[in-house]
Amino acid sequence: MVRAFLVPWLIMTSASIDFSGLPGADLTDDGGRPLRARLLVTADIAATVAAAVAAGWAVMPAGGLTSAIGSYDYDAEVAAGFEGVVAIRPKGAMAADIVDPATSLEVLKSNQVAIQAERGLVSAGAGLTVTQVNTALAEVVGPNVRVLPDLTSIGSAFVGGVLATGGMGPLRLAPSATLDALCLADGGAPRVLTGDAIADVEGMQGWTGMVAAARFRFYQVPAGEFGLVLPVQGSDVDTVAGLLSYLRKWTRVTLPEAGGRLSGEGGETVLNGIELVSRDSLDVFIAHAEDPARSKAEGLLQSCEYAGADMLACLTGWSELSIDDVLMSLLDPETETIGGVGIDFGVGFSSGAEMETFRAIREGAPDLARTRARVVQPGGLKPWSTSTDVNMVMPADASAAVAVLEAYADYRGAIRSLARELAGAVEVELSAYGHLSPVGIDPHHRVTLFVPEGGEAALAGARHAVAANKRTLIHDLLFAAERHGATVSGGEKGAPSLVEIARAAGGEGRLPDNLRLGIRRARAAVMAAPASFAFRAPRELRTEPE
Ligand SMILES: Cc1cc2nc3c(=O)[nH]c(=O)nc-3n(C[C@H](O)[C@H](O)[C@H](O)COP(=O)(O)OP(=O)(O)OC[C@H]3O[C@@H](n4cnc5c(N)ncnc54)[C@H](O)[C@@H]3O)c2cc1C
Repeated sequence: MVRAFLVPWLIMTSASIDFSGLPGADLTDDGGRPLRARLLVTADIAATVAAAVAAGWAVMPAGGLTSAIGSYDYDAEVAAGFEGVVAIRPKGAMAADIVDPATSLEVLKSNQVAIQAERGLVSAGAGLTVTQVNTALAEVVGPNVRVLPDLTSIGSAFVGGVLATGGMGPLRLAPSATLDALCLADGGAPRVLTGDAIADVEGMQGWTGMVAAARFRFYQVPAGEFGLVLPVQGSDVDTVAGLLSYLRKWTRVTLPEAGGRLSGEGGETVLNGIELVSRDSLDVFIAHAEDPARSKAEGLLQSCEYAGADMLACLTGWSELSIDDVLMSLLDPETETIGGVGIDFGVGFSSGAEMETFRAIREGAPDLARTRARVVQPGGLKPWSTSTDVNMVMPADASAAVAVLEAYADYRGAIRSLARELAGAVEVELSAYGHLSPVGIDPHHRVTLFVPEGGEAALAGARHAVAANKRTLIHDLLFAAERHGATVSGGEKGAPSLVEIARAAGGEGRLPDNLRLGIRRARAAVMAAPASFAFRAPRELRTEPE
């Protein structure tokens, strides 16, 4: 029956596209790795995907290309059975094309949004950025209305890519937490998935099909934004854990009905991020930044010096209160500290231009670390880089955070001794930044190795040592979670993070139940998906475990 319905449509679409005649993609991901594929940009994803699958082509859905984990790599032998590999990229826009609110997800084009204001829902095509969706909402519904995916790349990653990676920002909410439905194209007629079925797509990197559009619930947020930077000593894990435990209630948001007003357990002030920036990364940032961000960053560095701190805890949030009143509301009146951290050297930022400078500093450090990792210096080999990504949900008791922060402090210690050991042969750069929120602690630690030309053997040895230390870290985090009642929920790279954690644990049989089930579910989804999509998945997910 289904075949009889599909065939005329497939014949019509496949006849109109000459895939062999398409140009090479000539695109790279954020890590500088090229996409080995031909490229087709289209606003009509479902019909194009169906045509590619019917013509025997393997499909690599492409998004904003902001991911740097080798997502577009594939095994040439596995792809050999296809006519070729085509990267299908949704057509984007300078601004979202706002269409009739009643437009269904199946027919929405990749550059369109349909806003059902009374229902609190917005449907967005896969080629738009989250920022573009929020701009359309501001235009149609109001200025303080938004969808909640908050990756720091929301201005450049595409809606389809964000769902495919399961990316999370400082708020630590998976896209599915506020997703009403998505539309999947995998060769047949487009399918709308809701509820539990979304897990077969979220975080699956496009190995089970291509996201054509998504419908999100949107929310009202308090009008004002603020930032507060507190210098902390990273090795003083008790103090940092105390701070996180104290701030916990402000980080827990209750999601209201679609279209409703967001609030947290801490009342009108919602902390939408506690982010870590290490002093090392701030130093590198200052060397490359321009004013006004540079002079503001120099001020923060001075605060670190006065406070004897090596890290900055960067708090951000929404509130109707002024930054001074936010500070007073976060202050513990008994100790006159914020969770044990003195505020004497803290720096506050208010809405508007100040917050832009604040974000430039907070995001500048990781941006620079990523850029340095992909640029080949004259006379040097291509740098090698790896970053940690283990997301953990903390219980109220601070002991779990202490154990987790100790594991990261040990990792930093191990990398610093490696740097000393290899000095002269390999330059080892460590940059720590990322998420400290108790609802999702995932402080990324990026290690990048630089060697001069001819240093291949030294690079291989150093890679091996860093990878071994990273495995130890993951192992320690799993152990800390088990002992202290924390939950390792995976990582913000979806299935690839799960696979990495399983490898470090020594096999999926050694994972906690939730992760083991997650891997099994991912495998079942990959094995049920059309081969045209599943060909890029890691071997562990394409075959049953031995
Ligand atoms: C400056 C910067 C900040 C970042 N901040 C964060 C952050 O805060 N949190 C975070 O989690 N990540 C972050 N990232 C990483 C990256 O932005 C995210 O992984 C993002 O979700 C990738 O989206 P994209 O559209 O660029 O996808 P791409 O990089 O193009 O693709 C990533 C993967 O998704 C697949 N894919 C793409 N589009 C589709 C589709 N329509 N259907 C199915 N599969 C698809 C691709 O095949 C690929 O496997 C950041 C990156 C940068 C450069």
